[in-house]
Amino acid sequence: MSYLSTDQVEHHFHDVVIVGAGGAGLRCALQLAEEGYRVAVVTKVLPTRSHTVAAQGGMNAALGNVTSDHWHWHMYDTIKGSDYLGDQDAIEYMCRAAPQLVKELEHQGVPFSRLENGKIYQRPFGGQSRELGEGGQASRTCAAADRTGHAILHTMYQQNLKVGTHFYEEFFALDLIMEDGVCQGVMAWDIAQGAYHLFQAKAVILATGGAGRIFQTTTNAHICTGDGGALTLDAGLSVEDMEFFQFHPTGIAHVGPLITEAVRGEGGYLINAEGERFMERYAPTAKDLASRDVVSRAIAIEIKEGRGCGSNKDYVLLKVDHLGAELILEKLPNIHELALRFAGVDCTQEPIPVQPTTHYTMGGVPTNRFGEVIDSKDGNHDLVVSGLYAIGEGACVSVHGANRLGGNSLLEIIVFGRACGNQVIEHLKQQPYHPQIDANCWQDGVARVNRWLKQKDASESIKISALRADMQKVMQTYFSVYRTHAMMSEGVQKLEALAQQMSNLKITDRNRIFNSELIEALELENLMDLARVTAAGALARQESRGAHARDDYPERDDTHWLKHTLASIKDDSVTLQYKPVRMQPMTVASFPPKKRVY
Ligand SMILES: Cc1cc2nc3c(=O)[nH]c(=O)nc-3n(C[C@H](O)[C@H](O)[C@H](O)COP(=O)(O)OP(=O)(O)OC[C@H]3O[C@@H](n4cnc5c(N)ncnc54)[C@H](O)[C@@H]3O)c2cc1C
Repeated sequence: MSYLSTDQVEHHFHDVVIVGAGGAGLRCALQLAEEGYRVAVVTKVLPTRSHTVAAQGGMNAALGNVTSDHWHWHMYDTIKGSDYLGDQDAIEYMCRAAPQLVKELEHQGVPFSRLENGKIYQRPFGGQSRELGEGGQASRTCAAADRTGHAILHTMYQQNLKVGTHFYEEFFALDLIMEDGVCQGVMAWDIAQGAYHLFQAKAVILATGGAGRIFQTTTNAHICTGDGGALTLDAGLSVEDMEFFQFHPTGIAHVGPLITEAVRGEGGYLINAEGERFMERYAPTAKDLASRDVVSRAIAIEIKEGRGCGSNKDYVLLKVDHLGAELILEKLPNIHELALRFAGVDCTQEPIPVQPTTHYTMGGVPTNRFGEVIDSKDGNHDLVVSGLYAIGEGACVSVHGANRLGGNSLLEIIVFGRACGNQVIEHLKQQPYHPQIDANCWQDGVARVNRWLKQKDASESIKISALRADMQKVMQTYFSVYRTHAMMSEGVQKLEALAQQMSNLKITDRNRIFNSELIEALELENLMDLARVTAAGALARQESRGAHARDDYPERDDTHWLKHTLASIKDDSVTLQYKPVRMQPMTVASFPPKKRVY
């Protein structure tokens, strides 16, 4: 059948449709397909191009293969790392499940690096301690050299092929089908064919990854445009804690690609222009392995106080050559290659220029620990949106709170991918049939594409790339590592002015087949929504917590701000609400907030 010049919609029926084929989407799909359900995975890129493939350093689990360890210590570190904004029930669940799920991945085929005794190799990462035990640093991150995400993603894809998951590759999700508050499916655009598809399902799972591309410099792939959050906002729901974006301390200076924390785990360290190992001043115990917000802020201060390197004094150096070429090439081969390619530096001989770079979206679609999306209508924070689920970086469970610990995200996507799969299985048992849906439910999705393809007078167009670059620059300039009221209110104004220009945007390519300009336009719509809620949430939060560091409010304020932000867009303006942090774990005692010292 040819759809080339029509608005015809092909209608598919599945038990479940999962938007996103990263580690979270694929782990969830596996759980469901193994149970015999008819699972569709809709993904805008080929599954193995999802950003999970870029994850380097590893995945945390208290296996205790290198140092003594316990899931409770992992839980404590994660709560402390989150600056007490993480939900403690979800964190307990994740840390307890971790060892079992790492072993399961190993049995599924992930080629983890090994110790001499044959056990899984574990490296130390930032914020890992044995503070609840005998003290000292823990080695908790299970790694497949420095290509852990690659190994996990490929394994998950293969496992899904084996169990017959249906893949719709290069399909772009446009709109959630919501009827009477229940999610019934997704409208999507087949990028290669230029055709519309309606996926009707008894459960829809958003696994769309992060939104790092709202910033100018980021370690995130071009596809990390926060589409799941934007679909949720568009459905009249909220996103949570978007003001918390993690700046990774060691992106390659001026270009962004990530130099994994594993480099410091293996013994690399940071120096300033004076050759000083400055982290000793900021974090006397953990030094270069303090958590990421702490290290990023330290670098920002070094640069601000004139101790940066290079002619603009705007970066610091990551020294690794003392580790020796043999270790670097065995444990960090990818880093060696990245430094050569993007910085022209052979890191076995000289240090790598680095600076803080946007890396991870702590916020996202609000869920409970079963992956069910929460509406919070009328202040009821247990109110589940029937049929709608979210997992992975695009969700906010929230296990990372205000600052994620390295190695906890690969863990999160596997733990909650599986947990959500199990919850959906229970839901499906109550849902034998597909309900009748509104015959016109496809219209909003079609209109979203036609707004671009059927525009008039393209001649006076503002370019998508130009507006996107302006938006990214505003976010980078006004919402960076250090924030102030004056800067952020100027940033919000500039951003709102840019958002107004969206209606003047035009695309020049009106073809339906593989129209990448169209996809960029759709992604920019999503990015703009997320940038707006990020900026508004950041401006409102008058404290410093985790990745949200304010010069004008330098302290954490638990009395007023120990709460999650919920942002929605109503009548084209951003509305903020708040909800309490879940301080009560599942089985153990709560960890009350205390001063964070590394
Ligand atoms: C460079 C880098 C290194 C990292 N290293 C580590 C590490 O060592 N350890 C760690 O724990 N974490 C690490 N992280 C973080 C971690 O990799 C990610 O948080 C995690 O992999 C995200 O997985 P995901 O499944 O949620 O999303 P992703 O892997 O980003 O997948 C998103 C999926 O959604 C699909 N999608 C999105 N929008 C649409 C749409 N509109 N329509 C259809 N499909 C859509 C995409 O096609 C893709 O398949 C790293 C991140 C980066 C960027």
